[in-house]
Amino acid sequence: MPRIPKKLTGDRNQCPTCGEFFNSSSAFDKHRTGPFGKASAPAQRRCMSPDEMRALGMVKNDAGFWIEKRMSDAQRQRLSDASKNAREATTARARSRPSVPGVPTYRSGPPTAPRVARQAREKSRTEVKP
Ligand SMILES: [Zn+2]
Repeated sequence: MPRIPKKLTGDRNQCPTCGEFFNSSSAFDKHRTGPFGKASAPAQRRCMSPDEMRALGMVKNDAGFWIEKRMSDAQRQRLSDASKNAREATTARARSRPSVPGVPTYRSGPPTAPRVARQAREKSRTEVKP
């Protein structure tokens, strides 16, 4: 990729280590990872790769500066639901008890309050979908 000279104005900065440009010092801080040095251990701070930054939700703006993408509450909720569902799917596979598909079985008593709340949330989300 050709290096285009960039003007560093305001809070914009360039990382001296990886050469990436950041739109703010907080975006810059976000791409540095690893433990700080202690008396017992040397610092292992490093730069994240572009892939790691994207995984954190960072994006490059049109000017080529990394920015922290602000997630809406709905996006954040979807993300946390997705990871929760993935965890539950893993648990269900690990149990692998035979059950009738589509019929909920409550082997350890009635559904707990959190389960009911989640079902209600999923229902309302389904209804919102176009
Ligand atoms: Zn860097």
